[in-house]
Amino acid sequence: MSNQLPDVQQHGIFHRRFGDVVVTAISDGHIQAALGVFQGITAEQGEAELARAFRPSPPSFAVNVFVVRAAGRTALIDAGGGDIYPAAGRMMAALAACSIAPESVDTVLLTHTHRDHVRGLVDAHNKVRFANARVLVHQADLDFFLDPAKAEGMPAPIATTFPVVEASLRPYGDQVVGFRGEVELFPSVSSVELPGHTPGHCGFAVGGRDGVLIWGDVMHLPEVQAAYPDATLVFDFDGAQAAASRRKTLELAASERLLVGGMHLHFPGLAHVVRRDAAFAVVPEPWTSAY
Ligand SMILES: [Zn+2]
Repeated sequence: MSNQLPDVQQHGIFHRRFGDVVVTAISDGHIQAALGVFQGITAEQGEAELARAFRPSPPSFAVNVFVVRAAGRTALIDAGGGDIYPAAGRMMAALAACSIAPESVDTVLLTHTHRDHVRGLVDAHNKVRFANARVLVHQADLDFFLDPAKAEGMPAPIATTFPVVEASLRPYGDQVVGFRGEVELFPSVSSVELPGHTPGHCGFAVGGRDGVLIWGDVMHLPEVQAAYPDATLVFDFDGAQAAASRRKTLELAASERLLVGGMHLHFPGLAHVVRRDAAFAVVPEPWTSAY
């Protein structure tokens, strides 16, 4: 008998079925952030939205990845922060907890190549974790982040990303494959181009019309960027284009009543979008025991 209290949360794992497709949301953990990473809003505006939503300040960003199982195959959408954030990098343990063997993953789809999405592809020694996977990435992100010359003159939050992308993707060699446009990349999964946050930032439409739009980094902090969709991030490659992609996606999700999934929406990372005041609000989908 032990009276020891828990010091860590159980694994974040949530299954959601869409016809023949099963999507599993996995929590990789979170990243401690600060309102200072946002541009285009004042600190007071950010603080007010956090307070209105009973969220702490400084805020943290949730980090999620999604597994898609369809047609007897397994895909991973993004790979979390790996070894570089103290409170993230929990993906591998969560995959093990739901009996998804790394060697069973035949496809990795990347929404973009920022470090909190790619670093989990490799271990601390830059060894590949998903040896049997093809890693599909928008060609515009490959052309940018794998060309060190492009880092010249970029602000530090972007320039410092380059070596992490190099170390995390290069070990996959020619298993890394670029794509362009809006195409089916895996059974029941198609790319949706949402550029701006990075040159090739994408979402993935999973399971058709009654499925889920996994929108990558359309939002980093839902409480703030739903109320202020034009609030951008110091990590955005093209802030105006990122804001335009965000507005377009929020409009679409609200008018079509789409279910969306986000890498930085609070776990399990699934939600709807509604119009509120002159902007939007994110309505999280609750956890449920049935799927
Ligand atoms: Zn991110």
